[in-house]
Amino acid sequence: MSMTRVLMGATLIDGTGRAPVPDAAVVIHGDRISAAGPRHAMSWPADALVMDLAGRTVLPGLIDAHDHLASHGYALATRWGLDEPASTAHLRTARVLADMLAMGYTTVRDAGGLDAGFKIAIEQGLIPGPRLVLALQIISPTGGIGDRVSPSGHGCCAVFDPLLPDSVANGPDAVRTMVRTMVRAGADVIKTATTGGASSRPGHGPKDAAFSIEEMQALVAESRALGRRVMCHALGGPGVRTAVLAGVDSIEHGSYLDEEPELMAQMAGRGIVLVPTLTVYVHHRESASPHVRARALALYQHHVATVQRALDLGVPIAAGTDAGGHGHPRNALELGYLVEAGLTPMQALRAATQGAAQCLGLERELGTLEKGRLADLVVVGGDPLHDVKILLDPQRIELVLKGGVVCVDRRAAPSPPPCPPADSPIPR
Ligand SMILES: [Zn+2]
Repeated sequence: MSMTRVLMGATLIDGTGRAPVPDAAVVIHGDRISAAGPRHAMSWPADALVMDLAGRTVLPGLIDAHDHLASHGYALATRWGLDEPASTAHLRTARVLADMLAMGYTTVRDAGGLDAGFKIAIEQGLIPGPRLVLALQIISPTGGIGDRVSPSGHGCCAVFDPLLPDSVANGPDAVRTMVRTMVRAGADVIKTATTGGASSRPGHGPKDAAFSIEEMQALVAESRALGRRVMCHALGGPGVRTAVLAGVDSIEHGSYLDEEPELMAQMAGRGIVLVPTLTVYVHHRESASPHVRARALALYQHHVATVQRALDLGVPIAAGTDAGGHGHPRNALELGYLVEAGLTPMQALRAATQGAAQCLGLERELGTLEKGRLADLVVVGGDPLHDVKILLDPQRIELVLKGGVVCVDRRAAPSPPPCPPADSPIPR
């Protein structure tokens, strides 16, 4: 018989956007929530394990809808895996996964670069980490952002990795084959790109288009046929229109959508989610590459205006950081930027819980603290509605549960100090 656990006395923010419930109880049976609400309205078996959490806030486990967990920098040598052994890069990724879970992120959608072995490793308990929804690679045409040819015209010299298939496809038939290839390699979601971006090569910027409508329609149709959603990197110009018309499920970044209010109205009508990823552009404003810096500076005001218009029009918003290229700062940074862009703290929290779960197509499993959902939740010392930035402080992330299992409990014992780096190496 599975155990019943009760989180009692905290203020409940259930992820739906409803008002917080003070002195709440969340009842967990096995891996799912069996009830959540005001404590006085709840009951539980006498042998339940009760945790008294007065003074804290309980939230659904946080979700980052756009991350690149296996990326550790934009430099070409890093991107191509030339500047360190594959094993240290993998272990670095494993550390990122563990740290993210410890900060209350219980689900992350990887938008390209992470292979399916990491998901297997987490599911088998080999390493701690969030639930993963994987794209594997970015499908684009020749010259698009999934094309890894260097600025000097050389093909990628990285070792061929069958778990991360080459992702360039041209023409509807090749695009369909590529979708099937990604699914065969373990993709949970299909990632594509219909524009360049801030960090893409000179000549393929935020408003430069990639893929025809015929290619995108083929991509979306094949993804649907295989039961996969489509996340599409698109910043502005004609490419973002192609993506919306083809019926992708989410527009990633969408920085210049403010220039296309009619397209945004279509997104609202069709439930196409906007994943703004403000964090990455804040980072790009400091980029060492002049063309990246200029693009990021030019787009940021548009990006903020896009977020505001999305709020006005009712375009669903999901929080994503696009972390990886700029390293892995705390994912909750995005919530602070969303608040600066005009969301209330409650709206920002919803974007990282229910909104992100909807973006992933997992809203019946994750994203809210309601009866029947998987028991992924985080207990925070303090009130994130007063200041979402408390979610950046590891000391405040007191308790993290994934599927009803306690993954982090900082109340019990502070985490053991890591071995110091270069701990007594054997001299040579
Ligand atoms: Zn990305």
